[in-house]
Amino acid sequence: MSFSASIITLFPDLFPGTLGASVLGRGLTDGLWSLETVQLRDFATDRHRTVDDTPAGGGAGMVLKPDILASAIDAVSPAADPRPRLLMSPRGKPLTQARARELALGPGAVIVCGRFEGIDQRVIDARDLEEVSIGDYVLAGGEVAAMVLLEAVVRLIPGVLGGADSHAEESFENGLLEYPQYTRPQVFEGRSIPGVLTSGDHARIRKWRQEQSEDLTRQRRPDLLK
Ligand code: SAM
Repeated sequence: MSFSASIITLFPDLFPGTLGASVLGRGLTDGLWSLETVQLRDFATDRHRTVDDTPAGGGAGMVLKPDILASAIDAVSPAADPRPRLLMSPRGKPLTQARARELALGPGAVIVCGRFEGIDQRVIDARDLEEVSIGDYVLAGGEVAAMVLLEAVVRLIPGVLGGADSHAEESFENGLLEYPQYTRPQVFEGRSIPGVLTSGDHARIRKWRQEQSEDLTRQRRPDLLK
């Protein structure tokens, strides 16, 4: 069974967005993964198709109603669904390459995109939603965050990127940032490609890249080395 993503959103027209482009889009067309969008408003029960209400205790903004969201989740993901249920949320655990890889090797994900001030806590608890953040800033809604998560995940699904080794040396894969990359021309605005990379000596190239990765990580992201 291939990776299957279901997205619950008030803005299904935003998808597939970037997920339909290039190799990820080709993987979608080729059936290496699938994408379903679900309009949350379709689960509203009044004639105005209301999905939100004012926050209990007062305050700014609106809150997504728990009963409407629970109905949408239950319709998309019955109890036996093995897929994790994720809620895009600035309060969530930060997304990492390791979590992206785990998800890529699993059956897929059900992803809830929040809007407004947030979501009634009771549905988060009752449906065991895993809150996932894409960074320490606040977006207007979860749709772009869901695309970010799926871009990170889908490119790791076996077969989506051509070469098996395409991501083995990428940033975060081995706890380091990636080394600098170069291509032709040999000289660009007076700057040459480092000689070692055109030496043909693969052992030296490997060593140079490893050292560059370690230096860059020490300078820019010493937290990764801990
Ligand atoms: N009031 C919320 C708070 O302070 O935590 C922010 C709500 S935000 C305006 C609306 C929705 O955008 C959230 O429910 C979430 O789905 C999404 N969102 C915003 N920032 C995000 C982030 N950094 N990572 C993931 N999702 C985010």
